[in-house]
Amino acid sequence: MDAPYAVSEQLEPGVARILAHNPSAFTYFGTQTYLVGERELAVIDPGPDIPNHVDALVQAIAGRPVAAIMCTHTHRDHSPASRALAATCGAPIVGCAPLVLDDAGPRADAAFDRDYAPDRILADGEALAVDGRTLTAVATPGHTSNHLCFALDDSGALFTGDHVMGWSTTVVFPPDGDMADYMASLDKLRQRADRIYYPAHGPPVAKPQQLVRGMQGHRLQREKQILRLVKERARDIPAIVAAAYPGLDPRLVVAAGGSVLAHLLDLEARGLVVRQKDIWRESA
Ligand SMILES: [Zn+2]
Repeated sequence: MDAPYAVSEQLEPGVARILAHNPSAFTYFGTQTYLVGERELAVIDPGPDIPNHVDALVQAIAGRPVAAIMCTHTHRDHSPASRALAATCGAPIVGCAPLVLDDAGPRADAAFDRDYAPDRILADGEALAVDGRTLTAVATPGHTSNHLCFALDDSGALFTGDHVMGWSTTVVFPPDGDMADYMASLDKLRQRADRIYYPAHGPPVAKPQQLVRGMQGHRLQREKQILRLVKERARDIPAIVAAAYPGLDPRLVVAAGGSVLAHLLDLEARGLVVRQKDIWRESA
C-alpha cells in the first residue's frame, strides 16, 4: 500500500492530515501531522524535521495564520519540526510540557527531543481557541509522562498522538513510559464519548470505545502471561520476551523488553513480583 506522503488530505471539515516520510517498525508509514481549522489553523504534531515534510506543511498552510503549533509529546518523530515551522510561520509552540530530565533520575532516552521549547504549556483540561473552535488538552501520561491528547470542541474528534494508535499497540518504555499511568489514561478515554480518534500513526479510529476496550484487554492479558511465566520459574526479561512473544520481528525485541519491564515495574509496585538483579520472581 502506498501512503500519500507530503499530500494534504481533508478528513472532515476543519481537519486535514499530512504524512511525513519517516516510515519504520515504530511509526508505521510515518508520522501524521494534522491541520485543524480553515481560515486560521493549529498544527498538531508537526513531526520530524524533514525538509520535504516541513515544505508540505507550509504549502498546505498556504499563508493562513497559524494560531499554534501543538505537540502531543516530545518523541523525535513528533516535535522537532515545531522549530522549523515556528521560524517559518511565526506561530507559538503550545501543548505538552518539556520532559523534566532530572525528575526521579534520568527519564529520557535516545528517542526524546531534548531541544523542544514550548512557548506555552497546556494543563489538563486547558483549552486553546483556533478559528472559532477550541482544542482542549487531555492529559494522558503513560506512553510518555508528558503526553497530551487534544479534543476538538464538541465535535467528537480526539487527536490521540501515540496514546492510542490506529495500527498497533503503543510502546510503553520505562523509565519515562509507565504502565500504570498508561492504563489509567486508557480508562480516562473510556470515560469520554468521542466519535473518532485521529492518531499520529495509522488510520483514523471510527470505533474508539471498542479499540480502547480491546487495548486494555490486551494489556491485562499480557500482564497475566508475564505473572504466569515468573510464577513458573524466576526469569530475566530476555527469557520472558522469548516465551511471551514467539516469532517476534527482531527489530521489535528491544521494545518488547521495554514493555515487559513496564509491566514488571507495575507488578512490583503492586507487591506481586520481586527482583534480584536481573531476575524476576513471584513475590513470596
Ligand atoms: Zn511517541
